[in-house]
Amino acid sequence: THFGFESINESEKTGKVHEVFSNVASKYDIMNDAMSLGVHRLWKDRFMQVLDPLPGTRLLDVAGGTGDIAFRFVNWIKQKEQQRRKTSGAEFRLNPLETDESGSDTGLPSAEDYLYSEQRGDLSDTEEKKDSKVIICDINQSMLEVGKERAKKLGLEDDLVWVTGNAEELPFPDNSVDAYTIAFGIRNVTHIEKALCEAYRVLTPGGRFLCLEFSQVSNPLISSVYDLYSFQVIPVLGEVIASDWKSYQYLVESIRRFPNQEDFAEMIREAGFRMVTYDNLTSGVAAIHSGFKI
Ligand code: SAM
Repeated sequence: THFGFESINESEKTGKVHEVFSNVASKYDIMNDAMSLGVHRLWKDRFMQVLDPLPGTRLLDVAGGTGDIAFRFVNWIKQKEQQRRKTSGAEFRLNPLETDESGSDTGLPSAEDYLYSEQRGDLSDTEEKKDSKVIICDINQSMLEVGKERAKKLGLEDDLVWVTGNAEELPFPDNSVDAYTIAFGIRNVTHIEKALCEAYRVLTPGGRFLCLEFSQVSNPLISSVYDLYSFQVIPVLGEVIASDWKSYQYLVESIRRFPNQEDFAEMIREAGFRMVTYDNLTSGVAAIHSGFKI
């Protein structure tokens, strides 16, 4: 084997993953940029485009780490709301049944009200408003602390809830979120099936599971360049930037061990999800898997 982690058993894996992310937390964001040459940003942007959330969506971002997905989600919703404000005047004038900007309400619910009440079916009265809610859940406190600091700097701290928790045993009730995202996280989970079942449990019927993860490159030419880069360059970058060769060895190993696009799609189906599809990014270096709880 290239590295020493292949022989570790399952219970050791959890501890190892914890150690890795505690070690890399402070350097995590800069390493992501360095290792992927910034491409992870494009993948995450694409991920949010695919999710295309509406205002009012309750998102649970699992293995959310330092907040990359959550920040994109909040910005996406803010943009959507701005667009809606800009266009709403014109729309309301066209439809006499809608509330107009001056506040004269016909008392009739708008299509959007139906949409939100459907999406947010089991919310209590006090929460019954169109504010989107984002929960970032991660097993590692150090990663969340870095994320909270970033959120403060970006002025987004009011929009986010940070929760320490395990993807295999989520501390959230059944049917409580509209979207479940996990980006570069599920590979690190010890029992992937358990995490998928938990995703299914917490999602509301109609809710969407969306996963961004490294995957398998099928083109042999691209694959050999990618192998060279992964095994020769990434651990060196890890040592130079974060003084941590081993954590980045683990990273490369865990990517190679993760099931390919089709096998992972099958695991998602087995957890109960329907309409399971995937999209390759950068020739399959990463992939976005999608499924619905119906
Ligand atoms: N989603 C973020 C992103 O895309 O930048 C962070 C991804 S980072 C590579 C992987 C994260 O998974 C780490 O923050 C780690 O602590 C978390 N993690 C690993 N195992 C986990 C588990 N069982 N439950 C929840 N989070 C876990």
